[in-house]
Amino acid sequence: MVKAAFLYGKEDLRIEEMDLPPVESHGLLLKILACGICGSDARMFFNGPSSRYAIPVLPGHELSGEVVEMGPQLEGYALGNLVTLAPIIPCMRCPACSRGLDNLCVQAQVIGCTVPGGMAEYVSVPSQMVQAGGVVKLPQSVDYRAGAMSELVGCCLHGLQKMGVETGDRVLIIGDGPIGLTFLQLTKLMGAGWVATSGRRPRRRELAAELGADKALDATVTDLKTHFGPSLDRVIVATSNVEATREMLDVVRPGGSVLLFSGYLAGSSFDLPLNNVHYRELSLHGSIDCTIEDFRRAVSLLPVLNMAELITASYPLDEATTAFYATRDRDAVKVMLEP
Ligand SMILES: [Zn+2]
Ligand SMILES: [Zn+2]
Repeated sequence: MVKAAFLYGKEDLRIEEMDLPPVESHGLLLKILACGICGSDARMFFNGPSSRYAIPVLPGHELSGEVVEMGPQLEGYALGNLVTLAPIIPCMRCPACSRGLDNLCVQAQVIGCTVPGGMAEYVSVPSQMVQAGGVVKLPQSVDYRAGAMSELVGCCLHGLQKMGVETGDRVLIIGDGPIGLTFLQLTKLMGAGWVATSGRRPRRRELAAELGADKALDATVTDLKTHFGPSLDRVIVATSNVEATREMLDVVRPGGSVLLFSGYLAGSSFDLPLNNVHYRELSLHGSIDCTIEDFRRAVSLLPVLNMAELITASYPLDEATTAFYATRDRDAVKVMLEP
């Protein structure tokens, strides 16, 4: 029997014992070392899990762990390997998967939603995940805490690949949470010439400046439209705030592009002035999760990123509920569980 955190409903998380399924022939068993609380986990905790999922849900998809048991036919891994997991297990056969869009697989199993996630002492990784390439060894110089941030990097890389970044671009990132601060590092790495962030919490603005933001704007006092006008090459929306999202249209230049990265509360919308998009030739991109390929690339980039700096608090599994509330602390950036 091992301990895990089960979400039964809105703000109702319980630490319970569970049996682990036997390790599959090409599968493996991971002892979880770290599991981050994603914005999507927090939304599920504070709003209650979707009725599409079997309740209780075992959340957590931003994880790293140590291989402690291997299936009899598993090759390419060894006991003691530190690894991280892609966030979804694609079927690899459906039309989306065949086009390399396995993040859009309709039959995908989603770690921490439809299959048990990382807020547990152990997780059993099925053969299908190993065979899809979603179990990735951490580079030697990367520790397990930074390793647990791989999924953020993978999802941001996926979005950037959709939107494109060119050398010298002027970029604004609306939202300076863990995702915004990851976009900041990646856009710089990809050659953007000037990158600004906009957010509400002082600690995050400090961190943005430390991580190389050319400007870390205080969203509580800065009107983006007045500040920038329609001048920016790329605008990335990394906040679920609808009002802040609407501002993207005021600051992107003609011919520029915007990336809608965040998830919103169900039903969120705003009126889109169609001629603003038509006459100004704007490109709007959506982005969700990442492909296995994006994820593998993300892990290989970890040595040149400062992902561990985004971790502001860690809690043991027994204090998982406290950890969820801590995501709302003024100074919090990324909150981790370290079972
Ligand atoms: Zn996540
Ligand atoms: Zn598929």
